[in-house]
Amino acid sequence: MSGMGPPLPQNCAACVYRPPDGTCRRHAPSPGTEAFELVYWPKVKPTDRCGSGAAAGEGDGPGVIACQSCVHWYQPGGVGIKPDYRQGRPAEWWASSGYCTRFAPSPSSENDRKTMWRVTSAVQGCGDGQAVEQDEDGGDLTPTSAAHSMDRVPGHAGRLPALP
Ligand code: SF4
Repeated sequence: MSGMGPPLPQNCAACVYRPPDGTCRRHAPSPGTEAFELVYWPKVKPTDRCGSGAAAGEGDGPGVIACQSCVHWYQPGGVGIKPDYRQGRPAEWWASSGYCTRFAPSPSSENDRKTMWRVTSAVQGCGDGQAVEQDEDGGDLTPTSAAHSMDRVPGHAGRLPALP
């Protein structure tokens, strides 16, 4: 056990935040300073380990939230981001894109530094997300911490399938 948190995995191979693509999805991206920046989650080896992981369980523990289900995912006007340049991604990818607004910008030594939230797609996700949960009538949206939500990609016990 790691204090009051979920049990640590033996290594990254046994961690809920490492999907089959071998990336670490523990954290959401912080905002950058350039418009339309895409994000790449870092690769980790199966034998790596850290102090922020969580052992894969029965699907009722911590896990990864899909961006499309996250309260921090923002699509202005309810539509995908429309960049000046597609950066090699197809139009369909951008049609299902939005901004990750999970974190506030950190202070820096620069004056007048811009804040530009980074872009993720609906099917990406991370362990810092908070799922939107609807009541039975479809109203009253309530954020739920990723650490306690059941809103995960089904069939993966808190793990995401292969990610684009
Ligand atoms: S799941 Fe939420 S916090 Fe995580 S990357 Fe997507 S929008 Fe950001």
